[in-house]
This record gives sequence, structure tokens and C-alpha cells, in this order.
Amino acid sequence: MEANKPTTTICTVVSIDHTNLYYTVCSICEKTLPDPTTTATSSTRCNHCTGSTSKRLFRVLMSVATDTNVFVVVLFDRAARVLFGCSAQDLFDFTNIHPFCGETASKILEGEMLRVTLSNPRNGNAQHQRVVSVVPLRSGFRSVMDSLTELYRVRSDH
Ligand SMILES: [Zn+2]
Repeated sequence: MEANKPTTTICTVVSIDHTNLYYTVCSICEKTLPDPTTTATSSTRCNHCTGSTSKRLFRVLMSVATDTNVFVVVLFDRAARVLFGCSAQDLFDFTNIHPFCGETASKILEGEMLRVTLSNPRNGNAQHQRVVSVVPLRSGFRSVMDSLTELYRVRSDH
């Protein structure tokens, strides 16, 4: 088996790590920055870009089951948006208003059948296969944000 060849498989979502859905990057160069919620200073700035702010991107650890195996994959921003139906910042803001919606998001995704294309980490330090693309298979699949806004009865028009 070629180590770097992406593979496509059908899997079912077992759970997602809802405690750690984001990482913080510079708004200009998108270099990873320390998480502002775990550092003492309230604002995190990139040392290289003047006038930059920080923004959040998705990095989601998801445990999935195939017919033969259960394993953890990582979804970065583009793939995660397919399942969440919003930007990481939107979900973060929503979570600030509705503190338990991370757990609910995990529950919403549990049992969903997905067709995923996985690539092995190029970086030797990365432990998980990366989801390159994801397609929800259930007809009538609704994104996490769609389900959350209905559950919490939030109007999406401001
Ligand atoms: Zn920067």
C-alpha cells in the first residue's frame, strides 16, 4: 500500500471531540497562534503581520467506524465546514451563547454515514489521517449549525 495515496471509504461517525474544535491563526498569514483562551493575555497577535487579528479555524478530531475498524481522523477547516455548515468563528460565537452546544454538536453527528477521502499525514508528527473531502450520505442530512439553530430556536436572520 502506498503511504501517501488518499483512500476513500464509507464510515459512520462514532463521536467528535467537542472540547477541542478550533485552532487560532493570524488573520493575515494564517500562521497558528497560541489559543487566546488558554493564554494570560486576552489578545493574541502574530509577530510578523502588523495590524493583524486572530481568527479561528476548525480542527476537529472525529472517531469513525468502518466495517473493519474504529479510528480517529482529523478534519481541518474546509472539510469540517461541510459537516458544521458554518465557519469556526460562527460556531464559536454560538457556543459562547449556548454553552452546551459543543456536546449537542457531537450528538447531532453521531451515527451519520459519511464517504470520506483520507490522506496520511505528510508531517511525521501528525498522528491521525486527515479528511481531504467528506460527503454526508444520508438523504436529508442537515449540518450541525442547521440543527443547532432549530434546537435552540435561534433565528438566522438578524
Ligand atoms: Zn501573520
